Amino acid sequence: MRPLDLGGLGIHNLEVMGWALQMRWLWFEKTNPNRPWAGLEIPVHPNTTALFAISVVTTVGNGENTLFWTDRWLLGTRLEDLAPSVFQAVPARVRKARTVAEALVDHSWVSDIRGALSLRGLVEYLELWDALTDFQLNNSVDQHHWKFESSGTFSSQSAYRAFFIGSIQFEPWKRLWKSWAPNKCKIFVWLAIRNRCWTADRLQKRGLPYPARCPLCDQEDETAQHILTSCVFARHFWLGILQPMDLSSLVPTRQAKSFAEWWRKSWRKVPKQNRKGFNSLVILGAWTLWKRRHLERRALREAGFTEQRIPPASNGGRITGRCAPGPLGPRRPL
Ligand SMILES: [Zn+2]
Repeated sequence: MRPLDLGGLGIHNLEVMGWALQMRWLWFEKTNPNRPWAGLEIPVHPNTTALFAISVVTTVGNGENTLFWTDRWLLGTRLEDLAPSVFQAVPARVRKARTVAEALVDHSWVSDIRGALSLRGLVEYLELWDALTDFQLNNSVDQHHWKFESSGTFSSQSAYRAFFIGSIQFEPWKRLWKSWAPNKCKIFVWLAIRNRCWTADRLQKRGLPYPARCPLCDQEDETAQHILTSCVFARHFWLGILQPMDLSSLVPTRQAKSFAEWWRKSWRKVPKQNRKGFNSLVILGAWTLWKRRHLERRALREAGFTEQRIPPASNGGRITGRCAPGPLGPRRPL
């Protein structure tokens, strides 16, 4: 439920979308205070309020539409961050109502502070006093900027994206999802790159039966990366596809460890006008290799070859090529 470029399938996360849509109310309330519902208590999720608080930066003009204690207006940040001890001494209802215009008149913000300040609070208070002494209001209207867009204008879509800030990028997303390959093949490659295919390494971890060796070459351990790139069968397969197109130099080597890495490097060496076709070919090729792996595995099973299962056998390794007991059952000791 993430955007495509962050490794998801592009399906909207409805909960996050709800938070993003709620943020529209906060934005309109801030930028258009003349709306009839402005000033009412709008029920929004705490995540919405938190993201909104860090996402809107205000350029103060006359200070009438900027909250002194909670908006991000002084030095690009909030007073809560500049002077947390002082902020704690201000009652919540005052924080929600005091505008910059009101607070700067005769330093009336000082009267918002209730109770004694700690030593740390006194230091913050003096620093705040210095910062506010030179601050001048003017006649223009306060400007609020949504910081995730260069235009500074809020949109629910931008807010939705902002909830995913910090997520890991899925580098091949454009090559994968913009190709001409069928969706089922794209989804397979999406899983393979994220190492989510049920190959021996993952089956073994979960205690499920797994092939002792790669069913294609019977030489190495089976992983998704091996099946798609470094397997001798796969390399021969890619040579057969790429050679007729004069791209045999792109065939993966035995040392190739990652299908995604091989694809990324190879794609760059293909002429620009052929890249989309190349990407589609890589996806279809990977799908074909995966299907072939299934066929080989099934054939081995039908021939009576069992698969390994955790806990490992007494030899501490894998039981390669052990035949299942025949119709007469296992041989008994004499
Ligand atoms: Zn292999």
